[in-house]
Amino acid sequence: MNTGKQRLVIIGGGFGGLNLAKKVDKNKWDVLVIDKNNYHSFAPLFYQVASSSLEPAGITFPLRREMSKGRMRGCRYTMGEVTRIDVERKEVTTEFETIAYDSLVIAAGATNNFFGIANLEQNVYTIKSTAESIKTRNAILTNLERACQCTDPDERRRLLTFAVVGGGPTGVEIAGALGEMKRWVIEREYPQISRDEVRVVLYEGTDRLLRTMSEKSSANALNDLGELMVDVRLGKTMKSYDGKTLTFADGETLSTGIVIWTAGIVGNSFEILGSDVKAGPGGRFEVDEFNRVKGLTDVYAIGDICYHVDERFPRGCPQLAQPAIQQGRNLARNLSTGRFDSPFSYYDKGSMATIGRNRAVVDMGKVHFDGWFAWIAWLIVHLLTLLGMRNKIVVFINWIWSYFGFATSLRMILKPTKYPQD
Ligand SMILES: Cc1cc2nc3c(=O)[nH]c(=O)nc-3n(C[C@H](O)[C@H](O)[C@H](O)COP(=O)(O)OP(=O)(O)OC[C@H]3O[C@@H](n4cnc5c(N)ncnc54)[C@H](O)[C@@H]3O)c2cc1C
Repeated sequence: MNTGKQRLVIIGGGFGGLNLAKKVDKNKWDVLVIDKNNYHSFAPLFYQVASSSLEPAGITFPLRREMSKGRMRGCRYTMGEVTRIDVERKEVTTEFETIAYDSLVIAAGATNNFFGIANLEQNVYTIKSTAESIKTRNAILTNLERACQCTDPDERRRLLTFAVVGGGPTGVEIAGALGEMKRWVIEREYPQISRDEVRVVLYEGTDRLLRTMSEKSSANALNDLGELMVDVRLGKTMKSYDGKTLTFADGETLSTGIVIWTAGIVGNSFEILGSDVKAGPGGRFEVDEFNRVKGLTDVYAIGDICYHVDERFPRGCPQLAQPAIQQGRNLARNLSTGRFDSPFSYYDKGSMATIGRNRAVVDMGKVHFDGWFAWIAWLIVHLLTLLGMRNKIVVFINWIWSYFGFATSLRMILKPTKYPQD
């Protein structure tokens, strides 16, 4: 479509990409968002999909619908997974088409990092996307169903042992949700299983949970998980998992039916043609203060996939929603004016994590709070950040409903179909 405007192609309709598309001047730019999924996902609540607390539709939002509204009007969406960027020809290629750009923004986020550990990709469950979270939910529920039928004590123990590897916010949150399931749901909905048979173990390689937060938050999280009967093991480096036995560097083993891997992320990767520039540390593209990818022309990177270093963050900005949102908005300002006079500086609004209902930790600068107030703050912040009024209402109702009884209609195993066979 020839609009006479410059074409801005954005790879990824996540936090960074959507905020950029929303704010950039549509009179100047013809904006095209490419995403492999036709929806935006709200990653902070993936663990609630995996633990059957929320329905996937509550935390996802159709991109085409978003494009038809308010400040997004004028943007277009196309589905596809970008595999190749040709910076000489100024083109990107997906499995379906090749698309030309005048300026390109890489906002493709990050995926699981398995650190080259053999067989991990084949055997562990992950929660880095809505689809992965549904798969993890299916696996948890399937193991519970199989345990109900199983009479062999060793196999039963294995099926009812849930291991989480990685004690960052995602690991703590999913372990807390599994702990709640053990405490309040199992005996009511699975009468063949005793609560004491279920084991939830959270492994962390360093000496504390939530390493990116304050020591107080780490201590609170450890205590809260203990109350939810989660066994936390610190200083444990995982070596391998063959689908049945989890082995650690010190030789310790655990027989477990499910390992949920939350231990690392790496930027989504692309083949770059026409330049030697490659993704740097953590698979992230090194950018300058205007989010321009170093060594490339008219190519920018924002969010989890960019490596933006300044005095306060010598190892790069944290890979969180706020830096992605703020970078998207700042780049929109620079692309709209064309002057590139607004360097990016991350404004840290603080961080939080929840460990089951009534329990959360919040760090805002030097201020720390926890418990019920922190949990309410966590609920409000997440509801406000969620895209779409319908989603906010659905999630709010779901939370209220499960607050008073842990009753959800979501403990369903949705299997792939047999047909069509191709
Ligand atoms: C389980 C989990 C919990 C989290 N909890 C929190 C939290 O509590 N608070 C917080 O601040 N942050 C949290 N984060 C981090 C936060 O979600 C990310 O920092 C944020 O999403 C980064 O935004 P982004 O725009 O860079 O990438 P994303 O939001 O991940 O968006 C990337 C988009 O690119 C698309 N994409 C990827 N590759 C391609 C490709 N090759 N071609 C086309 N499209 C592609 C994806 O489909 C996706 O829509 C969490 C992340 C996870 C995974």
